[in-house]
Amino acid sequence: MASKNYDHTIDNDRCKGCGLCVTVCPKNVLEISETVNAKGYFPVYRARPDDCIYCTTCCIMCPDVGITIEKTEEEDAPA
Ligand code: SF4
Ligand code: SF4
Repeated sequence: MASKNYDHTIDNDRCKGCGLCVTVCPKNVLEISETVNAKGYFPVYRARPDDCIYCTTCCIMCPDVGITIEKTEEEDAPA
């Protein structure tokens, strides 16, 4: 389920630009940048952040632990 109560963070300098996360994202959120990072790789970035459903698939797949998703606030309890 989509929620805006999460932060999706890409560690630019950890990313090796392997593209695994791009391939597995079910919403086509991610793309490889055209600008190199400090290690000389082309890192991934969130090209379509509004489409992200915070499914965590990209985090699980990244071999370099380059993506994290953290909860930012509690969702409202049902009335
Ligand atoms: S959390 Fe899911 S929808 Fe969002 S970028 Fe990662 S794989 Fe794509
Ligand atoms: S899977 Fe990890 S290292 Fe590979 S492009 Fe995605 S964030 Fe970068």
